[in-house]
Amino acid sequence: MLSQTTKTIYLARTLSPLLNTSYPLHKEDWLAYRVEGTLPYDDVGPMSFYLHIPFCRHLCRFCEYTRMSLPDDMRQLRYLDVLAQDIERFLAAHPDTVLQGFDIGGGTPTALSLDNFQRLMTLYADTVRRVQLTSDFEPSIEGTFLTLDNEKLDAIAQAGIRRLSLGVQTSSSTVLNAQGRNNVDADVMQRILDQAHAAGIRKVNLDLMYGLAGQDDASRQRDLDVIHHLMPEQVTLYELRVNMLPGVQSASKEELYNAYCSCYEALIGMGYHARFGQNTFSRSDSDFGVSSYLRNRMLKGTSYRGFGISAQSMSAAGIAYNPGKNEHRLSSFLDRATFDEETHYALPPEELLSKYIAIAAYSGGFSLDIASNILGHDAGEHFSDELAFCLDEGLLTLDNDRVQITRKGFLHYGAVFSLFYLNHKNIKTN
Ligand code: SF4
Repeated sequence: MLSQTTKTIYLARTLSPLLNTSYPLHKEDWLAYRVEGTLPYDDVGPMSFYLHIPFCRHLCRFCEYTRMSLPDDMRQLRYLDVLAQDIERFLAAHPDTVLQGFDIGGGTPTALSLDNFQRLMTLYADTVRRVQLTSDFEPSIEGTFLTLDNEKLDAIAQAGIRRLSLGVQTSSSTVLNAQGRNNVDADVMQRILDQAHAAGIRKVNLDLMYGLAGQDDASRQRDLDVIHHLMPEQVTLYELRVNMLPGVQSASKEELYNAYCSCYEALIGMGYHARFGQNTFSRSDSDFGVSSYLRNRMLKGTSYRGFGISAQSMSAAGIAYNPGKNEHRLSSFLDRATFDEETHYALPPEELLSKYIAIAAYSGGFSLDIASNILGHDAGEHFSDELAFCLDEGLLTLDNDRVQITRKGFLHYGAVFSLFYLNHKNIKTN
C-alpha cells in the first residue's frame, strides 16, 4: 500500500521540470523559517569559505548565478575592501576557525583588473595564513579563458591556489552566440592551459554544459573532441537548469539523459573517472574532481560561510543568503558597507536533509549515514518504503551506506532523489 503511494508520487514527479539539484523549489518555500540575526557557527568544526565575485565582462543568458556587468576599477576595489572587512569581522568573532575548503567563484573572479585581481589573491593568502587548514584543504578559483593572462595565472599560483576552473560550456559558436557569449578557439584554450600548468597550477577543470538550445549530437561530439584534445585534469558536466530562468524552455528529460550518457561514455573512454550519475570527472581515480569546499559540501554536508553579494552560507542551524539573491538591480548593492547575510532561515532537520540530498545529487547519490546524522535517527529506517521502492524498481543501488543512482534511475533523477526529501509528500513540484 505504502509502496503504491511512493510509486504514484514518483510517477507524477517524473513530469516536473523543477526537480534537479535545486532546493528549495520555490523562493517562498522557506518563508516560515525566516528569522532575524546572523547564522550561528558554534561548534561547527572544520568549515569552508566561499567568496563571490559577481562581475562578468559579458552576461550569458543561460546563467542562473548572481552576476552583473564588470564595474570600473574603483568600484571593483571597493567591493574587495568590503569583502575584506566582512572576512575580518567573521574571523574576529570566530578566532578558532579551521578551514577545509576555500572557493572563489562568481561571476568571473578573473574579470577583475590586474591590480584588483592581485588584491583579491592577497586577500585570499592573508586569510588562509590566519587560520588552521585541514590536510585535505584544496582551494579553487573560477575564471574564463578570455580574462586570463600570465600575470593573473602567476598571482593565482603564488597565492597557493593550485586548482583553476574554466567555463567552456560548448565549443559551438552558434549555440554560444545565441546565449550572448563568445566562443574561444581551441588554440587559445590550449595556450591558457599550458600557461596555467607552467605557472604551477596543477589541476585545471573545464565546465561543459548540455541542454542548451541548439546543441545536438554533432555539436556535442565537437565539444568532446575539444576535451580529448586538451585533456584537462578535470571536467564538470552541467545540465542546464531553468528553475531560475523564467521563460527558458528546458530540454526533455530524454534529451538531457541522452546527452549525459553520450558525454559520460566518451569521457570514461578518454580515461576519466566518475561513477555513473556523477557530474564531475577526474583523470585521477583518487580524486573526486572538485575542490575540497565542494567535495565536503556535496559528500558530507559540512558547514560553509559565503562572503560577497548573494553568497550562501550554511551551518547546522540553517541557511543564510547575503543581500542580492534573486535581485535584478544588483549595482545598487555595491554601495553597501557590508554584504553580510541579511536573510537567515532557521531550518528544521527535514529541510536541511532535503538541501543535502539535492546537492549530493551532483555526485549521483548520497550517504545514509550523513542523512541519519542530519535527521537525528536512522534514515534507512525512516525511508524504508522509498528505499524498497527504488531498489525494487532498479532506480537506486545501496552499497553500505551509499545510495547511488542507476542508469534507469538517472532518467528522472530529480524525481528519485525527491522521494528522500523529508516533507516529500507535500512539496509543490510545478
Ligand atoms: S561568464 Fe560565467 S558567471 Fe558570467 S554570466 Fe557567463 S556563465 Fe554566468
